[in-house]
Amino acid sequence: MPSTAHPEQIFRPEILQLSAYHVPPATGMIKLDAMENPYPLPLALREEIAGLMIQAPVNRYPDASATSLKSSLRQALAIPDGMDILLGNGSDEIIQIIAMAAAKPGAVLMSVEPAFVMFRMIATFTGIRYVGVPLKKDFSLDLELMLSAITKHQPAVIFLAYPNNPTGNLFDPEAIKRIISATPGIVVVDEAYQAFADTSFIDELSKYPNLLLMRTLSKSGLAGLRLGLLIGRPEWLEQLEKLRLPYNIGIMTQLIAEKVLQHTAILSEQAEAIKSERAKMNAFFATMKSIETYPSKANFILFRVNKASQIFQALKQRRILIKNLDGTHPLLENCLRVTVGTPEENAQFCTALQSILSEIA
Ligand code: PMP
Repeated sequence: MPSTAHPEQIFRPEILQLSAYHVPPATGMIKLDAMENPYPLPLALREEIAGLMIQAPVNRYPDASATSLKSSLRQALAIPDGMDILLGNGSDEIIQIIAMAAAKPGAVLMSVEPAFVMFRMIATFTGIRYVGVPLKKDFSLDLELMLSAITKHQPAVIFLAYPNNPTGNLFDPEAIKRIISATPGIVVVDEAYQAFADTSFIDELSKYPNLLLMRTLSKSGLAGLRLGLLIGRPEWLEQLEKLRLPYNIGIMTQLIAEKVLQHTAILSEQAEAIKSERAKMNAFFATMKSIETYPSKANFILFRVNKASQIFQALKQRRILIKNLDGTHPLLENCLRVTVGTPEENAQFCTALQSILSEIA
């Protein structure tokens, strides 16, 4: 008799209710939806990488502890002595490792709303209760509300992205420090967009024993490699290491990331170019009376405009893909998020947006 088992009987109800993280098809589009760095690596460096690939012993498992890559990261990111590094297949995987480790019965994972959606999704995956504390209308931290939510829920983990996604702003660092001091658990400051922000909590690691810092190479030009890292005290990282799958960082990622980290000047130049394009896009938005923008320290800009969903569709028809946030959270009504691309891509986006607005006005 064939089995009559159905997913509905076997899988957890909260998994059955989830919608998968949606990645829209983007072939042939101007892709300004996913905070990627639009610039390829210089050809000479890609050729060096090709040479490494020829020699890569892909028949062998990669170095499970990625020792050499970790020491390159330590140097390139100026990781303080005494702090350890945990590597993830993207920082998404690190969020998952932390949530798995903390998911005791009744434990809470807290973040703000709106924030990076994977904080909430991964909490569901791992069976830890999620509490999202609303930001203020201007997307700043509501410190009083956070502090009372901390007292009420006693979270095991708090995730705060600095700058925040999808809003782009930096929260008040003093408010973050109050939260770190007030919480009984750990605080993970997620610095995915640090390359564009000119500020960091890295020097605070030595002051706060319950602080962990997360970074990723995704936004700095290496999204395709999938490499994220967690920086923090050995007593935390040594426990989290137990949950890391042994070969989560493949040999290609190890070799390429290490090579690129020998050329950090290239990555910083690209980040500078993105920051100056961000300023140009802000200047354009400032000329548009019907658009409200939010200050961004990341490589994207959140803006609010009437009929946002219609505008999003019209842009898509012109083969320009941005992110529609309308309807995803009450505070994001009529909000769209555009990633800063190359000067040509941004110019095309601005021209298209201008003409769509004049058509539907
Ligand atoms: N944190 C934040 C705040 C993000 O916006 C993202 C990507 N959108 C990530 C983490 C995950 O990045 P990755 O898995 O590519 O390292």
